[in-house]
Amino acid sequence: MSIETKKTNEDNILLATLGMIKQAVDLSELSTEVYDHLRTPMRFVEVAIPVEMDDGSVSVFTGYRCQHNNVFGPFKGGLRYHPNVTTDSVKALSILMTLKCSLVNIPFGGAKGAVVCDVPRMSMKEKERMTRSYVKTLGSIIGPETDIPAPDVFTDAQVMAWIADEYSTIMREPSFGVVTGKPLAVGGCVGRNEATGRGCFFVAREAAKSLKIPLRTARVAIQGFGNVGSSAAKMFAEEGSPVIAVSDINGGVYNEKGLNIKKLREYVEQTGFIKGFPGGEAITNNELLSMDCDILVPAALENQLTGSNAGDVKAKLVVEAANSPTTPEADHILKEKNILVVPDILANSGGVTVSYFEWVQNNYGFRWDLATVNSRLEEKMTEAFNMVYSFYCESCVGSDMRTGAYMYSIQRLAEAMMYRGWLRNGISRK
Ligand code: NAD
Repeated sequence: MSIETKKTNEDNILLATLGMIKQAVDLSELSTEVYDHLRTPMRFVEVAIPVEMDDGSVSVFTGYRCQHNNVFGPFKGGLRYHPNVTTDSVKALSILMTLKCSLVNIPFGGAKGAVVCDVPRMSMKEKERMTRSYVKTLGSIIGPETDIPAPDVFTDAQVMAWIADEYSTIMREPSFGVVTGKPLAVGGCVGRNEATGRGCFFVAREAAKSLKIPLRTARVAIQGFGNVGSSAAKMFAEEGSPVIAVSDINGGVYNEKGLNIKKLREYVEQTGFIKGFPGGEAITNNELLSMDCDILVPAALENQLTGSNAGDVKAKLVVEAANSPTTPEADHILKEKNILVVPDILANSGGVTVSYFEWVQNNYGFRWDLATVNSRLEEKMTEAFNMVYSFYCESCVGSDMRTGAYMYSIQRLAEAMMYRGWLRNGISRK
């Protein structure tokens, strides 16, 4: 099945991702067969997920699992619960996972799953029944050696535990390695919860070093204060960098001296939102994105920096904690403004890296301590940033870091495809 669509609008992240892949394959002078493999997911499944609601009625939700490419190993990718999920976004996010795993050199392929639903309107029991129904429907195509889901937007450790339990029931044996991002009590890994934000901080630290931005005084603005955004904020604050603004779906808060992130996290835990936090003044999401700051971290959803607002960005460095927060038009504008954008496939790869650590521990029945997990994550992220940044500086003159990261990742994928015999005409363009 071809994954190309006729949609041409700016916010179609599938078209944007495919455009980047095509460009990277061409610039690397790789065989066009490499593009053909990467533009087409190996399997895309759309399913009906019946769920008994608390009032006794049955709602049928739409679910997806896209298994994009497994040239390196089992498919791996998050499960998202969101009302705006589309087939194109699921496919694009699965491609990003393939590229991410290749970039940080971990032996997984790329996948993504989703259910179209509005979780804040559902009870905990409804969410549990929906999760179990998803596993009953798709249980035959996931597994510790085939496809391993993980948390994403509106899914968390509890959702992963339900998946592990339902899958183990189907398999008639404990099989917790089917998901990562689990609670510690059922085979989770210490540090997994904060890994994406922590990894994003390590990458930002290395990028700031390269741009000679002193991190201790760098003013940071973060869009999105969920799992990733709040963990990244905590890391920046611990480093001493003033986090001057953060926002969530309902708006944001600003304090020119730096927000008290510990108190803000406590406030959000109690109230659910940033709005009303007494330690700063209220701002809108648009004001956050155009804030006078040194480092901007989009950590919410896709398509936040667009052709209409990228011209207002004042940061010197954008670190993409979210997947696809920048449209191609915005990328072009930011490049013209000489703003370095550290792309999502590098900046948010800390999550899948620690997911890999969790999977390894599950396979060996062994547990690492937090210091080991964090230091291995730091090593992996620092090494990945420096390799990709050097490659970009040396091989992508006149281009941007996203192009460099795509080229670097795809060259690795192409090599593996060649050795596995997937490229009939060899790796290079003749
Ligand atoms: P989350 O649901 O925990 O948090 C999302 C945050 O974004 C919330 O604070 C929400 O209010 C905010 N938000 C949503 N829409 C917004 C808008 N229009 N403007 C401003 N804020 C908005 O999700 P998360 O796990 O933190 O994921 C955030 C991003 O990071 C996503 O793009 C996800 O795909 C990506 N990501 C997550 C992980 C992970 O390990 N959780 C790993 C890699 C990438």
